Amino acid sequence: MALPDAARPDPARPETVSTDLATRLELVRTGVADAARVAGRDPAGITTIVVTKFHPVSMIEDLYALGVRNVGENRHQEAQSKAAVLADLDLVWHFVGQVQGKKARQVRAYADVIHSVDRESLVTALGSEESSIDCFIQVNLTDDAARGGVDPLNLPALVERVLATPGLNLLGLMAVAPLGEEPRRAFARVRELGEQMRTQAPAARALSMGMSQDYGSAVLEGATHLRIGTAITGNRPVLS
Ligand SMILES: *Cc1c(COP(=O)(O)O)cnc(C)c1O
Repeated sequence: MALPDAARPDPARPETVSTDLATRLELVRTGVADAARVAGRDPAGITTIVVTKFHPVSMIEDLYALGVRNVGENRHQEAQSKAAVLADLDLVWHFVGQVQGKKARQVRAYADVIHSVDRESLVTALGSEESSIDCFIQVNLTDDAARGGVDPLNLPALVERVLATPGLNLLGLMAVAPLGEEPRRAFARVRELGEQMRTQAPAARALSMGMSQDYGSAVLEGATHLRIGTAITGNRPVLS
């Protein structure tokens, strides 16, 4: 007996892939809403950015169909080409990786938000008299300077520099919880740094923190922007 049409698998479009994607997205949406409720916060104040690095353009299209509008990438060339292919979609592109000074102008051209401003030379390279771009200052919570992010001791000077540079709209702070520290403690440090920063930059109220493993803790400490990859996308393809 033939299967009814609806039950017939379409070999051109393996349903399992996008069904899994939809299921994982829904689980994270529920997780964010639950964490917001525990924190006594309105989930509408939390933007979930789906980090799609290493995944194909087709996955971003699938995410778009599921209602996702904020996507994150961390490698310039990959982000640039995906943004070009998907230019017709009203996506908000978040650049979350380290930015090379000599690529700064190019990143600025397709990114809507840059999460990783971490040094004065990059601020200079990103400045513009013509247009404005939203940005976060990334703080480094580790002792390893190679990790990206400004040392918290140098944060006030960098904030001054961003505020004095035309074309940069400072939204707040971004951080990655270090391995070996309880994430909630790390995020509490970021929240406190954000409070100090607001004496200089009262409008910079946003906190970009929380990833697949620790977004619940981040919501409890006031995260406004979650950067979530694998919990939604599944494991990243291994590059050969
Ligand atoms: C990859 C990446 C993420 C997402 O990480 P997951 O653990 O997959 O959720 C978030 N932030 C930055 C800066 C990243 O590079």
